[in-house]
Amino acid sequence: MPSYDFRCEKCGHDFTVRVSWREKDKVKCPVCGSSSVKQLFTSFTLLTGGSGGACNAPSGSPFG
Ligand SMILES: [Zn+2]
Repeated sequence: MPSYDFRCEKCGHDFTVRVSWREKDKVKCPVCGSSSVKQLFTSFTLLTGGSGGACNAPSGSPFG
């Protein structure tokens, strides 16, 4: 089960919860109990893993 980062828009508390994506709408702030939370999107999985290598410049490129 993946974990998601949220920020409470009421008290500003950042927290991480492990829920399924279907349950994300039900996430509440553990501090104040507010349901006004916003999911934080961090840069993950974009720079790691994967076998595409679409961004890799070929070695010996004339543009190098
Ligand atoms: Zn809160």
